[in-house]
Amino acid sequence: MSLTSPRLRAALVATASAGLIAAAVPAPEPLGIGDPLFPHLGNPGYDVLAYDIALTYGGDNRTPLDAVTRIDARATQRLERLNLDFSHGTVKTVHVDGRPADFTGTGEDLVVDTGRPVEPGTRLTVTVAHTSDPAAPKASGGWIRTSDGLAMANQADAAHRVFPCNDHPADKAYFTFHVTAPKDLVAVANGLPVARSVAGPTATWTYRGVHPMATELAQVSIGRSAVVRRTGPHGLPVRDVVPVADRERMEPWLAKTPDHLRWMEREIGRYPFETYGVLVADAATGFELETQTLSLFERGLFTHPDLPAWYIESIMVHELAHHWFGNSVSPRAWSDLWLNEGHATWYEARWAEDAGHRTLESRMREAYTASDRWRAAGGPPAAPRPPAPGQKISLFRPVVYDGSALVLYALRQEIGDTAFRELERRWVTRHAHATAGTSDFVRLASDVAGRDLTRFLRGWLYGERTPAMPGHPDWRSKAPSNAKPA
Ligand SMILES: [Zn+2]
Repeated sequence: MSLTSPRLRAALVATASAGLIAAAVPAPEPLGIGDPLFPHLGNPGYDVLAYDIALTYGGDNRTPLDAVTRIDARATQRLERLNLDFSHGTVKTVHVDGRPADFTGTGEDLVVDTGRPVEPGTRLTVTVAHTSDPAAPKASGGWIRTSDGLAMANQADAAHRVFPCNDHPADKAYFTFHVTAPKDLVAVANGLPVARSVAGPTATWTYRGVHPMATELAQVSIGRSAVVRRTGPHGLPVRDVVPVADRERMEPWLAKTPDHLRWMEREIGRYPFETYGVLVADAATGFELETQTLSLFERGLFTHPDLPAWYIESIMVHELAHHWFGNSVSPRAWSDLWLNEGHATWYEARWAEDAGHRTLESRMREAYTASDRWRAAGGPPAAPRPPAPGQKISLFRPVVYDGSALVLYALRQEIGDTAFRELERRWVTRHAHATAGTSDFVRLASDVAGRDLTRFLRGWLYGERTPAMPGHPDWRSKAPSNAKPA
């Protein structure tokens, strides 16, 4: 996590009302929901139902966007003020249920005085007029500056560097985006288009998601883009967004998505969202990201001369698989990240196996060899070490990818392929469009297997050392003696 922008703090202090200081509540402080890896992420006392985010882009991706974020929430406890997560922008005004509200900033929180006590169960609307600054340090996440505009990459803790929010996947909500930009550009966001209107030199695009979404999965792309449409299984609208100049070059890759969707549906069941597609961003991100209904890929993945085609496709399947694991079923805490990445890696590897490139067993055997080292460097799969300060990306270590797919492999070895497939299908059905954690997975696995797997999975999920692999007594993990701390 990076520190609060000093600029934001100065701006907030300058505009905060002195009235708040006199209030009979303790001094504002950054709050969180107790995530073991990001203690100040999310906020207690309310449940966000919907975000309506209006962004105005002037055409220069180094200049802050003007924005209005409206949050419809329901109090879950008595509130005299509420904390939102927000940094990397200047707050101009805040209204609560239409009335001007006092506010102040502390840490990466925006603290709003509700003006009067809000009783549990009461609905309230908080409207924040603010800027959203894309010029933040690259490592902090949030806006990504592309060669022709902007895209977004908020995982894990960076949505609040773009808009005020309850920035934790445990609080999913419905999203509507309105993006105003010069009319020669194209804006696309999560969900389906609702409207486009032109006023003089600008156009406003509106997009709405049909299902609840975690803040970390928000996507807004603004640029010189071509929007390419095709149809996936059972009429699913597939929509890709690529730089206009790359339209033809990308087509062979884009054309693969319907087959990936069909393959995943055979494995796990119906795709859980209203649309899917690939967003190709001309930016060196160093990662791809499963932003909901429109996965973000860096252009270089598809143009790199040394990457085999099957490997690129397996990464496409990885981001698609997240739409079941991570997007529809969201983690309850960031220490449940293994459920996202372990499963996405599993289907990435399973696809490569089915396509005849590399067997799952050989990949898992290699993972087993490295597993003790990965655990020593990053912690066990379900209790990963916090990211290094200022390097949130360091949370995404091998132990949550192949090291966690290895947990699923061990489980399949233990309960058999039929029970394992049943577990996977029940997991994404039971927790569809909701939030679930490690204990839920252990419980469901035990239910499906018809015996208590708590002890078996405890070692695999929380052990410092990798347990013996069922069915492969000869597999060895190399001692972590010379492991480098990550
Ligand atoms: Zn992933």
